[in-house]
Order: sequence, then C-alpha cells, then structure tokens
Amino acid sequence: MSLRGLARWFCPHEYLSSPYAVDFGRLQERGVCGLIVDLDNTLVGYDQVVPGPGLQEWMQRARDAGMALCILTNNHRRERVTGLARSLGTEVLARAGKPRRRPFRKAMERMGTAPGTTAVIGDQLFTDVLGGKRAGLYTILVRPNSDHEFIGTRLIRVIERRMLRHFVKAGMVTMPRPRPSDGSHC
Ligand SMILES: [Mg+2]
Repeated sequence: MSLRGLARWFCPHEYLSSPYAVDFGRLQERGVCGLIVDLDNTLVGYDQVVPGPGLQEWMQRARDAGMALCILTNNHRRERVTGLARSLGTEVLARAGKPRRRPFRKAMERMGTAPGTTAVIGDQLFTDVLGGKRAGLYTILVRPNSDHEFIGTRLIRVIERRMLRHFVKAGMVTMPRPRPSDGSHC
C-alpha cells in the first residue's frame, strides 16, 4: 500500500502529547461537540482504577466547552471500566471491539452527535485512529501515558512508530513533545 493509502486510514488529523494538550476551542471552531475517548493509556494507566484529579478537571473543561463525552474501550473488565466511568460521571462503552464502526456509531448515538461533529482521542493507530477514520470522525492520536502494555500491543507499537515516522517525514502530521505528567498541562 502506498504512503497516501496508509495515511488515509492510519494518519491522525492531530498527534498530541496527551489529552491535556487538546484545544477544545479549536475543536469547537471545527464544529465538534462530541468526544469519543479511549480509556487505557489515554485517560488512565493500564490497570489504574481511580482517576487522577487532573483528569476530572480536564473532563469538566471539556464539558464547559460544550463537549459531550463518551469513553470507548476494548477493555473487557467491565467492573473496573464502569467504576472509572462512574467516578468521572461519563458515558462508557466497554468491550467495544474497535476498530469496528459499530461501537463508534453507538457512542455517537449516546452523545447525540454525528460523524461531522465528533472527534476521537486515543493512543493507538490500529484501534482508535483506524476506527475513527472508518466512522468518518476527526481523529486525535495521543502518546500513551505508560509503558505497561500487553505483549501484543508492544509489538504493534513497533509498527505504529514506523508508520508515524513516515507520516511525520512526509509532513502529514507533526510529532508532539514528550507527554507531560497528567494534570500538569493546560
Ligand atoms: Mg488505549
């Protein structure tokens, strides 16, 4: 597949250091009013069960900017996922099966948004970005917030890094600075 062909499905519209670097004002200007957000290694670390205070604040800032929110995760540990979503006061769809289109459509239904008014934020090209692009959304890739991952994911990271290097080199997306610690970025 050509680089352009790969980029069509895997190159994010934005590549940021973390969700804390998302510019809600700019998303608003694009007409975005719904955010589908990945959970593990995007909002919280792998296995984290209590969200940090910075995350609560970030979600409030998103809501204040008029964004509806829905967490979309492939994680199958429903208890942990629903517990986290409850403490964050947000909608959640677990065992989603990203990059299928259906869970993205379901999340949009929950938020009352459409593909043209929805963005997805996540740390993986093969689930968050590919799924978001298949569903016709604006896609924001963020750096993972921890190195603790399944062995399968670690292998995928090798391919992801390679693809991203090509996209950056071709000027299709900009490489972000390293991820700041959660809550320290405004
Ligand atoms: Mg993730």
